[in-house]
Amino acid sequence: MNIILFGPPGAGKGTQAQFIVKKHNYFQLSTGNLLREEVKLKTTFGSEIELLISNGKFVSDEIVNKLLKKSITNLKFRDRIIFDGYPRNVEQAKNLDLILDEFDQTIAHIIFLNVSRDVIEKRIMGRMTCDKCNMTLNEFFNKEQIELHPCGKEFLKKRKDDNLDIVVARYDTYMKTTKPVLDFYSKNVNFIEIDGALEINQITNKINEILNV
Ligand code: AMP
Repeated sequence: MNIILFGPPGAGKGTQAQFIVKKHNYFQLSTGNLLREEVKLKTTFGSEIELLISNGKFVSDEIVNKLLKKSITNLKFRDRIIFDGYPRNVEQAKNLDLILDEFDQTIAHIIFLNVSRDVIEKRIMGRMTCDKCNMTLNEFFNKEQIELHPCGKEFLKKRKDDNLDIVVARYDTYMKTTKPVLDFYSKNVNFIEIDGALEINQITNKINEILNV
């Protein structure tokens, strides 16, 4: 079954997706990660993508949808995808329905992690992501784990778009274009809201209950 993890930037979608991946052998389809990979590999759209991300703006649906389709059509991930950071606007939500339909797949759960802007600011400002394994830690809350990180703490990097101005811009973009996606999904029977300000393991437990494992 496929899952959508939905919520503002810094809601903990990536962190929770990693737990689900490890425990239940899922594939995390993070459009943010796919886009950052394009920047790293300096592909045709790499510099355009980098500029948009570093300004807290959305990358065009055309580019994102192309990257998304590549993963959805990969048979290895069939019915085991966690959508993290997609869809981010109503057009993308409609596009996702179309692609899933075309490849005879469905969404089993739409999980909304609801968090206020105050909490998000604290989380994002301390966020560090491992260049090697993509693990996310927080320099304020996970000091010991950072020291003991298995890949080596030198691989833990701050994202360029994790600074206060950009965080505010990203949150505003979310409120304007991503909130309407909530209306699109919230009437759905498989839509469920979780308080994203809870402790990480409390959220994980709630997600595990939803996944019935
Ligand atoms: P994330 O890693 O999900 O926080 O995404 C980082 C940045 O990548 C966002 O601020 C956007 O600039 C871009 N991005 C990620 N996913 C999408 C998407 N579905 N549509 C448009 N832009 C996206």
